[in-house]
Amino acid sequence: MSNLVGIDLGTTYSAISRLNENGLPVIIHNSDGQNITPSVVSFIDKKTSDVSETAEKNLFEDENTFGRFKRHMGEDKTYKAFGIKHTPTSLSALVLKKLKEDAEKSIGKIDKAVITIPANFSSKAREETMQAAKMAGLNVKNIINEPTAAALYYALSSGNNLSGTFAVYDLGGGTFDISIMKVNGSDIEIIATEGVQELGGHDFDNKICDLVKSKFKEETGEELADEVFNCLSAESIKRDLSKRDKVRTSRLSSGTASARIEITREEFEDSISTMIANAEMLCEGAMDDAGVTKDDITDVILAGGSTRIPYISESVKKVFGKDPVTFSNPDEAVALGAALFIAYKSDPSDLTPLQKKSIEKVKISDISSKYFGTLALVKNTATDIKEIQNCVIIKKGEKIPCVVTESFYTTQDGQTGLDCSVTEANTEESDQEFVNIRCNESLPLPGGRASGQEIQITYSYNDNQIMICSFLDVASGAKKDIEVDVSAGESKDSEIDINDFTVE
Ligand code: ADP
Ligand code: MG
Repeated sequence: MSNLVGIDLGTTYSAISRLNENGLPVIIHNSDGQNITPSVVSFIDKKTSDVSETAEKNLFEDENTFGRFKRHMGEDKTYKAFGIKHTPTSLSALVLKKLKEDAEKSIGKIDKAVITIPANFSSKAREETMQAAKMAGLNVKNIINEPTAAALYYALSSGNNLSGTFAVYDLGGGTFDISIMKVNGSDIEIIATEGVQELGGHDFDNKICDLVKSKFKEETGEELADEVFNCLSAESIKRDLSKRDKVRTSRLSSGTASARIEITREEFEDSISTMIANAEMLCEGAMDDAGVTKDDITDVILAGGSTRIPYISESVKKVFGKDPVTFSNPDEAVALGAALFIAYKSDPSDLTPLQKKSIEKVKISDISSKYFGTLALVKNTATDIKEIQNCVIIKKGEKIPCVVTESFYTTQDGQTGLDCSVTEANTEESDQEFVNIRCNESLPLPGGRASGQEIQITYSYNDNQIMICSFLDVASGAKKDIEVDVSAGESKDSEIDINDFTVE
């Protein structure tokens, strides 16, 4: 039997889980005895970092404490602590190292892990997540989209005869995702997914902060400084507003003025209504993409800590016309689903008989969350001029695994080479300016031929996020195969070796 774990590397909180001997997914506590660990890294000195609730409390006070870096995965952002440059990847690696080391204290050495990621993560952000795992010394073979993990947990915890079309509405600290999936027993197929990386609980905290500050100014004429009332203070008001209609802050002082500020649930709801309306639109869009209406949706599953806000359930009810189903632990559902997923992906000899039984009916189909294509010389129908354009080969929403072949033709007499490029985009783009070029290699062609030679391009996307892109010159048989790891890419050199760091 191997030690297999599922990890939810969240914007705000992370969690690690496994299947127990009875085949039930359970959370592995951290060394503080908590189910969830703040995704916050606080550097104590050059080589020591702290990932804990203490670190979380320091987030707005201390210049060497960093959080919410998941929002910047895939971007060129840097953070500096004690003269050392960090990146979203290295900070994520430190969080993963903390989860790994704490878990290993209770279950022993971890053999394999799966990490969850938002369905709308760019491929660069996916790559960097895999790189962070590698830096943390984790053997990660797969990643899984967060909504798939939540649905998996829901499907298994609700009994085996579950079937229908489900929506997973996941609203955490930093991101919002809506996914529509068909579930038949434990067979889960994602048919549409939408999301935004900049919508979540942190934005709600900022709104509460603004509300408190403007009310303080109104009541006292004084400005309220960030040191007196910050996002962390706002977060606790927000949590209380999930239970009560109005909440008062503790006494806040600025200059000679001092006051307790009252925020009502209605004021809070007003302040976030535009963001929630945006989420509602994305839900409608996902249903359109899936070709379903709200009447086709059997149940809406809520995941993510922010779904504890009553206004969210109301919004979901408005869009889908029914009360959503909730987990008592919405912030653990993704991690628990990940534990089921890694067992599903593993060799049965690594599992106990009861673990095997838990996942024996599981079958998961996923869809491509991007458009993949190639650059080719195409006649612009408007101008009649030939220009380089992006041609989509695998569409977003295409069921994975899939194999798609398209024919292209050489454009010049005596052409001796072919540029083989693999592009990726979030929308169906023809303009090369707006696509990300994943690979660009060349295939030599035999000379002395007329233009119009057929080139067959075949993209096969397997369910382990690997895409093989073949460029075949049909007449000569010359072929170039390019392997694109959609989830993980080339490891970039990192300036930081996180093994130099201890994590407390
Ligand atoms: P992530 O996936 O971003 O790591 P989680 O799913 O753990 O996040 O959700 C974290 C968010 O949930 C935070 O913004 C937190 O303030 C919010 N949250 C947790 N509990 C509540 C609650 N009772 N009411 C409102 N928001 C909550
Ligand atoms: Mg989450």
